[in-house]
Amino acid sequence: MPRSVIVVGAGLAGLTAAVELADRGVCVTVLEARDRVGGRTLGIEVAPGRWIDAGAAYLGDLHTELHALLAACDLKTAPTTMAGASRFALTEDRSDGAATRDGRFPPLSAVALGDLFEQLEELTAAVRPDAPWLSPDAERLDALTVADWAEQQLTHPDAKLFFPLFLGEMMAADPARISVLHMAFYLRSGGGLRYLNAFEGGAQQDRVAGGSHRLCERLTRRLLDRGGALHTDEPVLSVEQTEREAVVRTPEGSYRADAVVVAVPPLLADAIEYRPPLPTPRAASRTERGCAVKLNLVFPEPVWRAHGLSGWSVNATGPLLSTVDDTPPEGSPGVLTGFVTGAEAHRFAALPPEEQRAAAVAQAARLFPMLPEPIAFHVTDWLNEAWSKGCYAALFGPGDWSALGPTLTEPHGRVHFAGTETSTEFFGLLEGAIRSARRVTADLLGE
Ligand SMILES: Cc1cc2nc3c(=O)[nH]c(=O)nc-3n(C[C@H](O)[C@H](O)[C@H](O)COP(=O)(O)OP(=O)(O)OC[C@H]3O[C@@H](n4cnc5c(N)ncnc54)[C@H](O)[C@@H]3O)c2cc1C
Repeated sequence: MPRSVIVVGAGLAGLTAAVELADRGVCVTVLEARDRVGGRTLGIEVAPGRWIDAGAAYLGDLHTELHALLAACDLKTAPTTMAGASRFALTEDRSDGAATRDGRFPPLSAVALGDLFEQLEELTAAVRPDAPWLSPDAERLDALTVADWAEQQLTHPDAKLFFPLFLGEMMAADPARISVLHMAFYLRSGGGLRYLNAFEGGAQQDRVAGGSHRLCERLTRRLLDRGGALHTDEPVLSVEQTEREAVVRTPEGSYRADAVVVAVPPLLADAIEYRPPLPTPRAASRTERGCAVKLNLVFPEPVWRAHGLSGWSVNATGPLLSTVDDTPPEGSPGVLTGFVTGAEAHRFAALPPEEQRAAAVAQAARLFPMLPEPIAFHVTDWLNEAWSKGCYAALFGPGDWSALGPTLTEPHGRVHFAGTETSTEFFGLLEGAIRSARRVTADLLGE
């Protein structure tokens, strides 16, 4: 068992590992590039003491490690509010009013969508969750983009229209940039298509009351209470190892320890210099940033509720490809959160702030004509966050699983790798981040 460990990255994975190691008497130092902890969790205070999530928000019953950690940190969950009808603006014509339906089923051909889901479920069932690169037909599915697959397989116009929207919402992915193997793996890893897609009974059932960033804040407090150290504003530049120790360098100086846990997304893990060099990179040339910009429009009250609407919408044209009611559990202010995903996120992120606001507010007003002017508007552009490089998670492009999969969880001497993208269970999610940390701490503690 190492006496000292340096953890790179104070996201959920890094902090979970840090606290578990500190609990066992290991001397832990966490080095974080940003001026805050939490990584892809981030809170916004929309009224005194009332918080919403600008980053990760949702969890479900299958996220057992996350529930356990929340309970251990004395944090509660609150159900996601989804009462009322949903809106679907699925024609190309922006002036067209949105159709309103009860539940989550869009006003498209039920047969076409049923067939689409069946095809996706077949792919998902065939993938090996523990080692996707060893799945039957893995080579072909890893070489094929989802856009090419959709072109070959989807014939009904409704399936063609709905599929990229679905993928944007589920994975923040542009179908042209990910492999079919990655899509199938992601859906399987997250508990299956239906689970990932559902609010009640699914992955969006609950939120962390007060914001998911609280979890990282509480873990930080526990780490410091146990004598651990945290240095923010210290991006790690290099990790060198000798027979005796590991030396980690930041612009501020060097830190020495028996072992290192690198708990950062793949594109950032790959940007660190390793001496001796890694035998296999942490990201390949086709590994992409997940494409999502999250918008929060704040109103005095969630006025759509009084009109029998859930606030949930799915839209064929952007910027808001979907919206959801993110009003804090206290009931006000009303918060409508919009997701700009896939290729649309790249277009939107390039606009000046005033154009972003104008486009989002105008579209929200078309979808929900009862909305007053927002009292606040927040944009979190994860695509261009230097220390995330996209979200919800990195996207594996053609060939990535074959190239990266076999060494994804392999330590490199004294250097171990955590982070949600190293978890084959709940890859890309908070639950995956925690499970990746558990894997690494078990390795280090020899359990
Ligand atoms: C908009 C959005 C919505 C999401 N929705 C959900 C959801 O509803 N449910 C869910 O479960 N998940 C969701 N996710 C995904 C979830 O946030 C992530 O899976 C999880 O937070 C990843 O944790 P991590 O510790 O692996 O990585 P991160 O949170 O990315 O932490 C890595 C840390 O390392 C730091 N870092 C990077 N490079 C360096 C370096 N060189 N030196 C030092 N520090 C470095 C970063 O600043 C960061 O703090 C969402 C994410 C986003 C952004």
